[in-house]
Amino acid sequence: QVKQDQLEAAKKYVNEVYEVVQKRNQGENEFLQAVKEVFDSLVPVFAKYPVYMDNGILERVVEPERIISFRIPWVDDQGKVQVNRGFRVQFNSAIGPYKGGLRFHPSVNTSIIKFLGFEQIFKNSLTGQPIGGGKGGSDFDPKGKSDNEIMRFCQSFITELSKYIDPDTDVPAGDIGVGAREIGFLFGQYKRIRGGYPAGVLTGKGIGYGGSLARTEATGYGTVYFVEEMLKDQGDSMNGKTVVVSGSGNVSIYAMEKAQQLGATVVACSDSSGYIYDKNGINLATVKRIKEVERKRISEYVDEHPEAVFNDNYSDIWLTPCDIALPCATQNEINEVSAKLLVANGVKAIGEGANMPSTLEAIDVFLSNNVLFGPAKAANAGGVAVSSLEMAQNSMRLSWTFEEVDAKLHEIMKNIYRNSVDASNEFGHPGNLVVGANIAGFKKVADAMLAHGVI
Ligand code: GLU
Repeated sequence: QVKQDQLEAAKKYVNEVYEVVQKRNQGENEFLQAVKEVFDSLVPVFAKYPVYMDNGILERVVEPERIISFRIPWVDDQGKVQVNRGFRVQFNSAIGPYKGGLRFHPSVNTSIIKFLGFEQIFKNSLTGQPIGGGKGGSDFDPKGKSDNEIMRFCQSFITELSKYIDPDTDVPAGDIGVGAREIGFLFGQYKRIRGGYPAGVLTGKGIGYGGSLARTEATGYGTVYFVEEMLKDQGDSMNGKTVVVSGSGNVSIYAMEKAQQLGATVVACSDSSGYIYDKNGINLATVKRIKEVERKRISEYVDEHPEAVFNDNYSDIWLTPCDIALPCATQNEINEVSAKLLVANGVKAIGEGANMPSTLEAIDVFLSNNVLFGPAKAANAGGVAVSSLEMAQNSMRLSWTFEEVDAKLHEIMKNIYRNSVDASNEFGHPGNLVVGANIAGFKKVADAMLAHGVI
């Protein structure tokens, strides 16, 4: 049993390290937010295992092993030269090659990429797969760009990044703004530059050239599998539940699909132009066509489904009463006010499909009101888990069936849930999966870092 004075000493130590981190990373608010959440969770770990403090694990894990920042010049359809900024943070390689997506969005900067890379370290560890943490992207805005512009941008981006990545070193994938089309262009140019057939250098590839079945569905399905585990522990299930899912990208669409398969009614989803509410249940075929094929706005939905309503304020989606909320859009989309509204309307469970979609204040609201809360690192780890299975298939030069991959994904999500619950109990925070997931993810990385010495 950990004594009070050990807890106090650990708390003091964590706060001191955090102060240094704050000074070193001034203005990087998203990164500091992600760090704060993890640091606070780890206090009981340092109290129980002072060896981590003695070996500077915390000081080292919070500093990226390497950050690459580069120029991406490309020519638009008008013949004008455009310049964007590219990033790759190779955050931690203690348990495997750097692994994590690429985000193309105008909001991308060092803070965003570092917060995502930091989260990725612990998420990837939680999957039980041998993958380290990394993330990258660009402030390029894919909105309104032609296929040719996307291709030229991707070729320029990967021409520079190709100097730093290979299947054993760093393996990017998709994230916001990077889907199958972009991965295809990135892979084609990488292969052309490096030669051979380095299939395992990127994941999320098309099925015909080295991709894994069920990778597209994995993040969304995994989030719902995780929520189903939380509900099962309470003797409940997804069946008959009313669900609100923000976003309408890859994560959101397949979270909706799995929720519907398990008997829930999904009544709302959104994009950056607003949200739709369909009391009869969202017609997923329509959403898929609008978003995946036509690449149009979600407001188109009401033209075909006149019983549905469109609201042009996307954050108002959280006004919709529901049993289960799945934030699958982006960081900090649920603030304290939205969290209180959800609680007042009787929400039972939250599953974070996006990365860091709830602010620290929102998380406090959910936890203090006994809402089942599946934090992003645990609940959305299914995507990167199947990316790791894609790497495994590439190495073995074979491909598993959809059912095989889906069964492995389901098993991985159950294990993540179980390990998070066990850690939350062992370290004195029963029911708090934020603490549980952070500790379970951290310990494996910390032990590997200990074993490797001071590097
Ligand atoms: N971008 C996804 C994430 O946030 C997937 C990363 C990957 O598959 O490497 O975990």
